[in-house]
Amino acid sequence: MFIGRLLLILVLAFLLYRLVRFLLRLPGGTVRPSFPRAGGTPPKSEDMVKDPCCGVYIPVSEAKCLVVGGKRVYFCSNECMEEFRKSRNV
Ligand SMILES: [Zn+2]
Repeated sequence: MFIGRLLLILVLAFLLYRLVRFLLRLPGGTVRPSFPRAGGTPPKSEDMVKDPCCGVYIPVSEAKCLVVGGKRVYFCSNECMEEFRKSRNV
């Protein structure tokens, strides 16, 4: 009888140990991406702009910006920007 109770206590202690370990592992245990962006819609700030020099479309964040007569003009590279500057004499 005594051994039976001891065994029960041991089993309960083991289960409690497993439960504590499980609870401790929960936060940050599994790595979940906070922003599942792969294949999703691009952020709104990523507007596509046209390079007037070579006609290529680039996202605003990657484009080179030049202000011409108070108007923003975007380019895919410094080379295109220089070429545009030369042609416009800015
Ligand atoms: Zn270009």
